[in-house]
Amino acid sequence: MAFHDTSVEVMLSAEKLQARVAELGAQITKDYQGKELTLIGIMKGSIFFLTDLARHVDLPITMELMGVSSYQGGVETTGEVRITSDLTKPMHGRHVIIVEDIIDTGLTMKFLLENLGARHPASVKVATLLEKPSRAKVKVQIDYKGFVIEDRFVVGYGLDYGEKFRNLPFVGVMRTD
Ligand code: 5GP
Repeated sequence: MAFHDTSVEVMLSAEKLQARVAELGAQITKDYQGKELTLIGIMKGSIFFLTDLARHVDLPITMELMGVSSYQGGVETTGEVRITSDLTKPMHGRHVIIVEDIIDTGLTMKFLLENLGARHPASVKVATLLEKPSRAKVKVQIDYKGFVIEDRFVVGYGLDYGEKFRNLPFVGVMRTD
């Protein structure tokens, strides 16, 4: 029995995730032929998605990481985002894709798009593994989307609950029973 069997119910299996990530990687490979592409992974939630996606992009990409944290007002994000770890390279003139785990209210991605836009890249697109459209507070254009999910709190494949469960190979929901 695995440690998570009693606490987490599978929503998207490892096989389903891997198949979709491969499709997104193939699409990015097609879209960025002949271009200088940087994938920017947003820590910590996107790390598994980022590394799997990167291995399905058949181009000489570079990779960066950026850490952000949202200020919480009660249980809701206030939309005020703080950079906890910045990029190591200038993005001026580069084609970049921001790689996120999940777009919930959209406030974090709105901040990231404004922040990266100010660095004058050649282009900025958004890749997210998951989207919860029912929770959206701001409209964000998503260029590469893994799955649309209902409004449930999910863990696994990078997503945490109290910093745990990131290492599950699937995406699941916490059992309440
Ligand atoms: P947004 O600014 O779009 O509301 O928030 C995005 C961030 O909230 C994500 O990067 C993630 O860290 C966190 N988040 C939103 N929904 C979930 C969820 O269902 N599970 C987990 N573990 N984190 C979530």
